[in-house]
Amino acid sequence: MASFDRMVMHPNTGTAEVHRACPMCGKKQMLVCSTEQAQDLRDYCDNKHKKLIQDILPENMFTPTEREMIQTGLCDECYDKVCSGF
Ligand SMILES: [Zn+2]
Repeated sequence: MASFDRMVMHPNTGTAEVHRACPMCGKKQMLVCSTEQAQDLRDYCDNKHKKLIQDILPENMFTPTEREMIQTGLCDECYDKVCSGF
């Protein structure tokens, strides 16, 4: 389920940090986005799906891992494990 642990807004720079620990290994992950994107993400995680995740975090700005972090919370390594069936 789409979620995050913590969001830190930096209105002075217009950026936000989104933190989430991997549910499998506990690795701490973070992505930096604009405060606007952070608001959209918050709505997204509250199931107020105004936008698709790929519209909030566009491919040209974010990696699939960063999107995965919001959607499943899995880090790169655990995502690979899950996809390869361990
Ligand atoms: Zn992990």
